[in-house]
Order: sequence, then structure tokens, then C-alpha cells
Amino acid sequence: MKLIFFIFSITLSLTSFAQNFDAIKRYKVNYALAKKDNDQFIAIRSFVNHNQKYLLLVNPQTLETRVDIATNYKISNLQYSNVLAIFKNTAYIKAIDIASQHEMQLQNAGIDFTIPNEKGITLTIDLCPSHKPLDRIIFSSAFEEFKKLQQPVPLAVSVSGKWMLKHQDDLNWLKSLVEKKELDITWVNHSYNHEVNALPLAENFLLIPGTNLDVEVLENEKLMLKNGLTPSVFFRFPGLVSDKKIVEKIEAYGLIPVGSDAWLAKGQKANAGSIVLIHGNGNEEIGVKDFIQLLKDRQPDIKNKQWMLFDLRQGLEKGVE
Ligand SMILES: [Zn+2]
Repeated sequence: MKLIFFIFSITLSLTSFAQNFDAIKRYKVNYALAKKDNDQFIAIRSFVNHNQKYLLLVNPQTLETRVDIATNYKISNLQYSNVLAIFKNTAYIKAIDIASQHEMQLQNAGIDFTIPNEKGITLTIDLCPSHKPLDRIIFSSAFEEFKKLQQPVPLAVSVSGKWMLKHQDDLNWLKSLVEKKELDITWVNHSYNHEVNALPLAENFLLIPGTNLDVEVLENEKLMLKNGLTPSVFFRFPGLVSDKKIVEKIEAYGLIPVGSDAWLAKGQKANAGSIVLIHGNGNEEIGVKDFIQLLKDRQPDIKNKQWMLFDLRQGLEKGVE
């Protein structure tokens, strides 16, 4: 009984550890090689919280991220150019390279597919600022369809800061599904303010003159941490709009821009290996309807394991091989 209580306390302290970043200071881009036993990570951020120094770490092979106490690692500081050179053969840097090849486009730069010719898709759900509640049906339907074959069900959620600030209940609901191991969510940075105007795309979204990228990227990560979310290495451009310069700047934060080749509400079809985009912020009724229909159409394939959901990280790890 004592042992059970002991294990329970450890588990409790580990889970609560990630959720107490309520006093983050000196949050900055900080590249370093971080070694612990035989494992190697790339630190991409450092910060202080209640006098303890932390790192945001990337596993360059699996693209998984974690936040940990800095003193647990042997650290050697690096420049971004060193990171690119030293880790050029890893999935992480290969993915950044592939994303760069699409940086010229004004819309949908970055990675827009994961594993071609595989039987399934990667689902990404964008949460842009909105006054409407979360379309919870997307998440509950995905869970219902896939739960017998895949549990937790992997999907990626792109969060904007202004959405998080206004939708604490919905965010807590999503977190509870992760805690219950129903969903495995990759949290994607979708910018803090997510500004949008009526101007042409070249002067819209993050291309609006005067946009402060440190606020859009780093303040959003801080808010994610404060809300108990571990930022992934991925970034989704608001409106999927970017130019060459801004793609390079986002990559210099150590982030991989993720586009989509199947924005359902725009009539784009989901093919094998697609990165599917739907908005879950209450503003894209058609996209949600199309997604529910897609699940219905694919039901026999899902049952026969011929159509599944891929984790964005694992999909890219395989896709860049
Ligand atoms: Zn958006």
C-alpha cells in the first residue's frame, strides 16, 4: 500500500511539474547540444521559472519535444548554423530543409504532406481567435472512429494565443482527453495575435508591416507552457500565408512550418499521406461537415486498418528518410 502511494505521488509530481509555469522569465531562443546519459537533444529555448532554469528540448530523430530542468543535462551552446550542420542527417534538420524548398510560395509554404502512398492522413486542426466555442465534435468523432484501432488517437492542434486566452474551458476539455489517453495532441504554434485584415495576402496575416515575430512566436510558446502544453517543433502560418523571408525567420526559431495539401473547406481532397486542415474554432462549418463525411466514407477502410491517422512527428520522421 505504501509503495502504491509512493508511485502515485511520483506520478502526481511529474504531471503537475509541467503545469506550473506561471512565472516564466528570461524566455529566449537558446541553441545548445544537451546530453543526458546516452541521449542527445537539441535545446531550442531556455527560461527561468521560480528560480529554476528550464530547457525546451527536441529529440532530432523523433521530433518529440520536452521541457526539463537544465541541470539534468550537459550543455554546450551552439549557433543555429552549427545546429543545421551537426544535425543535417537527422529527421529534424531534413524536415527544415524540405520546408525551405517551398518557401517561395505566398500561401502554403512548408511541409504539406507526410508519408506519400501510406494508408491514412495527418489531421491538423487550427484554433484561430474566435468568439465561438470549440467544435468538440471533431475530436469526439475522431476518437469514436479510431478508438478500436488507435488509442490514443494522434492529431495536431494549432493554437493561437488569443484563442487560448478566451477558451479556457475548451482547452481544459482537450487536455482532459489527453490525460485520459484518448487523444495524443501535437501542439503547434499558430502565432499569438493571428492578425488578419482586408488587404492582399502580401500585406496580410504575419506579413502585416510592423509584425513583431518575437511576440508572435515566443509569447505564444510562453502562454502554451503556462497552460500546460508542451510546444512542438511545428509552426502553422496564420492563413497559411508567408514569404521567403518570414519562412527563414521562423526556421531560425528552430521551427518547421507546416502547410496543408487538403484544406477541406476549400474543396481540396484528402489523399493518402495528406496533411488535412480543418478549423475547429466554430468558424468553418463546411470544413467540420466535410471531415465528418470523410470519416463516414472511410469507415469500412478504417475498420480494415486501411486508413488511419498519423502522428505529425512520426509521419515526418518516416517521410524525410
Ligand atoms: Zn488560423
